[in-house]
Amino acid sequence: MTTEAMLEFARDIDRNGVTYLRGYAGALVEFAQFCIENGISCYPKICSVVSNPIDAIGRRIIQEGLHCDAFDVYGSNECQNMAHECAQSEHNLHVLSDLRHLEILDEQQQPIEDESEGVVYITSFTNFIMPLIRYRQGDRTNWIKKTCKCGLPFPLIHRIKGRESNWLVDKNGQKVFAVTSPFFDVPNFINGYQYVVHAPGKVTIKINPNKKNPDFEKGIEYIKDSYSKQYGNRFDFTYEIVDSIPHDDGKLRIIVFEK
Ligand SMILES: [Zn+2]
Repeated sequence: MTTEAMLEFARDIDRNGVTYLRGYAGALVEFAQFCIENGISCYPKICSVVSNPIDAIGRRIIQEGLHCDAFDVYGSNECQNMAHECAQSEHNLHVLSDLRHLEILDEQQQPIEDESEGVVYITSFTNFIMPLIRYRQGDRTNWIKKTCKCGLPFPLIHRIKGRESNWLVDKNGQKVFAVTSPFFDVPNFINGYQYVVHAPGKVTIKINPNKKNPDFEKGIEYIKDSYSKQYGNRFDFTYEIVDSIPHDDGKLRIIVFEK
């Protein structure tokens, strides 16, 4: 959105008493960041985030800028809404099991019953035009095998850990998932990040620091140190400090490939 459009959007929220915002993660986080930087008061009651799982950094920015909590909605164009984050379950999501049959399958396409990670497959109960049966959604997550404090009977899954295509390949050709964790340890120091892949094992990590935090350089050092310890023998990382991470029509692209 342009600056003028975001100003108008903020005015509309205030004027109309909007309490519920739903949007792409990239767009809502950018809007919240805009409110922080321009001292705009905007007070919806709740934000639902679609298209990308919202991470600790995005949650912090939405809480600061829009003064409310952000909740993940797991959905797709093919299957619509499949799961929704519960306020009482540490960012886990309830599967909408009255509408979709969600399975998590292993590499042999066998259902995983414990809390091991696998790939999501969906059977829709509501699409009578184009039935989708065991449709490979391609996202990775795991079951949370406990009853939620809220009392709802819908089963729980962990927040989506990324699509199958969202992996990095190390120098030895091995896939690595969930390389983002160091960022989640220091959400107050960071406004955004992105991996730019040049070749297997050769990656630039773009970091947009939260310069409102006087100690942001400590956060950057923590991230560099964590990657060095965890993946130093598998990747050659270089770092680029940037002022923003552009989104792609509202979608956050965690991993992009050098053209
Ligand atoms: Zn719940």
